[in-house]
Amino acid sequence: LYKTDITIIGAGVIGLAIAAELSTSFKDVVVLEKSNRFGLETSSRNSEVMHSGIYYPEGSLKAILCVEGVDLLYKFCYNHSISYRKTGKLIVAAEESELGDMEKLYQKGIRNGVRNIRHIDKHDIEKIEPMAKGIAGIYLADTGIIDSHGYMNVLYNIGRAADVSYIYNSEADYIDKKNDGFIVGIKKDGIRFSTRVLINASGLSSDYVAELAGINVDESDYRLDYFKGSYFSYGKKSPVKMLVYPLPQSHLTGLGVHATIDMGGRLRFGPDTEHVTAIDYDVDSTKKKFFYESACRIIKNLDEDCFYPDMAGIRPKLKGEGARDFVINHEKSRGLDGLINLIGIESPGLTSSIAIAKKVKKMVVEIMA
Ligand SMILES: Cc1cc2nc3c(=O)[nH]c(=O)nc-3n(C[C@H](O)[C@H](O)[C@H](O)COP(=O)(O)OP(=O)(O)OC[C@H]3O[C@@H](n4cnc5c(N)ncnc54)[C@H](O)[C@@H]3O)c2cc1C
Repeated sequence: LYKTDITIIGAGVIGLAIAAELSTSFKDVVVLEKSNRFGLETSSRNSEVMHSGIYYPEGSLKAILCVEGVDLLYKFCYNHSISYRKTGKLIVAAEESELGDMEKLYQKGIRNGVRNIRHIDKHDIEKIEPMAKGIAGIYLADTGIIDSHGYMNVLYNIGRAADVSYIYNSEADYIDKKNDGFIVGIKKDGIRFSTRVLINASGLSSDYVAELAGINVDESDYRLDYFKGSYFSYGKKSPVKMLVYPLPQSHLTGLGVHATIDMGGRLRFGPDTEHVTAIDYDVDSTKKKFFYESACRIIKNLDEDCFYPDMAGIRPKLKGEGARDFVINHEKSRGLDGLINLIGIESPGLTSSIAIAKKVKKMVVEIMA
């Protein structure tokens, strides 16, 4: 039986950020990852956008941790020479009927504390991004893109330098509560760990892992639903230099197909929203027409022949009515002192990752006191 103070299940960007943050104060940190490397799931299958925090309900963890997290992430990128670019972002209204919703979104941004946000009219759009379509819009100067792989590498190296153990090919499949912590088992040679603190950062499996710990995920509203988001890339030079988004449609579970640029300057459209029950990252090439038409709503003169199926990611969305918030919870009140659950960490999880890690660290400090 191996003994450790802190065990983190999952080496996506959230587990890595938590491990890096904890490594500055705690000696005995283990990260269990079922794949043979870190960051192979949702953390490397997303838009790589550092969001401003405009979309999320006031006072929600998503709003607070995104606004706090985006500043922390820019500073972190700067300090650790991670590639990033403050591209700016445009949210465009296509027609008069959307102006009311656009104003509501703008006001939400102000209430959430988003900085450098401004209304722009058709004339401004023509000036700053002539190939974008729209009768009016919101301009977010501080939104940008990040090399998420470079970011995860730096987090991993910080942990490594402070003796965090990353154990790959190790799927946690057994959790048992003991007086002073947990016994965690991995699906390999019956290996067992005893740990004082257990942090569930297992992304798409986070409801299953909570269940392993003995939580009834339906009663506690922790059940996840999967919503796949596919991308198509554009084979020609990008006609736009910033990120261009439509106004989000209230009936959709995403932000609407938008234009993002990666660090190499490549233009991609996506993600769409498709309910799935299994993890499958293939992109359905017959969606080409849909992507072309969605893209044409926000950008002028696109060439349909230049749309190619690209990649897909899967959103771990909490089931339930309306917009659900991140779950970041020390489960003491459920009799599971020492277990911290992170469930439903969909967008803006990447942007919020350092802020999330700092929040989790406070919980760990309290548990270990
Ligand atoms: C299509 C899409 C676009 C997005 N765009 C953005 C964006 O532009 N900006 C932004 O801020 N956010 C974005 N996000 C959200 C962001 O990608 C996620 O919030 C973030 O990557 C979540 O990281 P994670 O570490 O929680 O999950 P993951 O990256 O999924 O990591 C979880 C890890 O746990 C491991 N694991 C699972 N079960 C076990 C187990 N039992 N034992 C051991 N290991 C296990 C997995 O193998 C995995 O490596 C997007 C998400 C999607 C799907």
